[in-house]
Amino acid sequence: MTTFQDLGVSAPILKALESEGYTKPTPIQIQALPIVRKGGDLIGLAQTGTGKTAAFALPILDRLHKDRKFAGEKSCRTLVLAPTRELAAQIGDSFRAYGKYLGLSTAVVFGGASMHKQKQAMFRGVDILVATPGRLLDHVSQRSVRLDKVEILVLDEADHMLDMGFIHDLRKIATILPRQRQTLFFSATMPPSIEELAAQFLDKPDRIAVTPVSSTAERVEQVVVHVDQSKKQDLLHAMLADKSIKRALVFARTKHGADRVAKKLESAGFSADAIHGNKSQGQRTRALDGFKKGQTRILVATEVAARGIDVDDITHVFNFDLPNVPEQYVHRIGRTARAARTGIAISFCAPDERAYLRDIEKLTKQPVPVLETDMSLRAPRADERVVRPKGPAGRSGSVHPARKKSQAKHHASEAHGKAHAKQGHGPTRSRDEGDRRDRKGNAVWSNNGAPPKYRKPTRRPTSV
Ligand code: AMP
Repeated sequence: MTTFQDLGVSAPILKALESEGYTKPTPIQIQALPIVRKGGDLIGLAQTGTGKTAAFALPILDRLHKDRKFAGEKSCRTLVLAPTRELAAQIGDSFRAYGKYLGLSTAVVFGGASMHKQKQAMFRGVDILVATPGRLLDHVSQRSVRLDKVEILVLDEADHMLDMGFIHDLRKIATILPRQRQTLFFSATMPPSIEELAAQFLDKPDRIAVTPVSSTAERVEQVVVHVDQSKKQDLLHAMLADKSIKRALVFARTKHGADRVAKKLESAGFSADAIHGNKSQGQRTRALDGFKKGQTRILVATEVAARGIDVDDITHVFNFDLPNVPEQYVHRIGRTARAARTGIAISFCAPDERAYLRDIEKLTKQPVPVLETDMSLRAPRADERVVRPKGPAGRSGSVHPARKKSQAKHHASEAHGKAHAKQGHGPTRSRDEGDRRDRKGNAVWSNNGAPPKYRKPTRRPTSV
């Protein structure tokens, strides 16, 4: 059995790992550590829950510890890019935890938090900087961060970065970074668009892969309930009445949807909170802390906000809405069954979401068993055709005309632009939530001042 000592992890880090309760390295750690230690570039095909953060953090900490030098004012020696604030904060916490006996410095910068404090944190330079791409570029343009001393670059969850429209920011960052560096690139999926991105950043990388995207799905017990959209909330209440559900994460497709579900749960007497991109950083941190500590039993989240959630004992994941990108389903259900545990994922599928369910089953190569309840609709027969929902991809149903008008008015308004600019964003786009893209990198809808446009589905309706 390989141990952390066998992998050359130094004593102060071993001590920290012991206090974290890590007894043996995970498969990705066993594969990644020797490659990173050699100094080569790496592509790691791995999703969260595999221990990938430690797979890059441990050898980086070791190297920085053994070869100590001053990064230089406003500079960093290691730059880690992550798509969301929560993930960035989580990675920063991991570096601090694993490196707690090393005395190295770590800073985290992301949008929605004070620029000033981040500038102060960066003023003397740090060993490790973890950043979301948009906010990093804001700092670079204000000359509060420089990237010319970066020795190691990590791109984490690269597929999510593309999904979120960070491609231009990443390309820009690539041009500023020194050519002579080590680059570690992690992604849960490797479609051609990610390969292309990887080619821009990496030089003759070694490749490792653990738990292909479908295998989390095998650890999680999954069921789907066919239910009318209007009955979903009642169904959720009925299921959550089961006290054996200790800690549940509920996914909603939109921010408003997440708020609505959480409010109705609270009114019905459940302990629930919501987390999404419209909440302030303080609210997000509080919601997450309450959930981690077990004070809140149910957390309702949007896809993006949930990415950085690192809570080990989520017993149940509910998909209140099914995601239109099948890989997102795998990420969502992977929130339970973390660190090799098992979990239960329950998806609510309205009639207009059946095409999404079909795509998910195609990806995971397994049918999701149907759970019949009092509120169930008849499950579709195998030979029934499914019709893809109308309206902008990623949203079920169409936007109400009155809402569409008011959205357009708001998006075109100066107040909208100013509100974004005030947060350190460009005038028209939210950095952290990014523009929405499909898997091929095409814009699905964007916050560029125009109301969401209807895009014709790229695939023809298919039969189940
Ligand atoms: P990650 O894939 O980096 O998001 O890690 C998933 C979870 O596994 C986190 O909660 C880590 O704290 C935990 N973890 C990472 N490496 C190990 C290990 N070697 N032993 C036990 N738990 C680990």
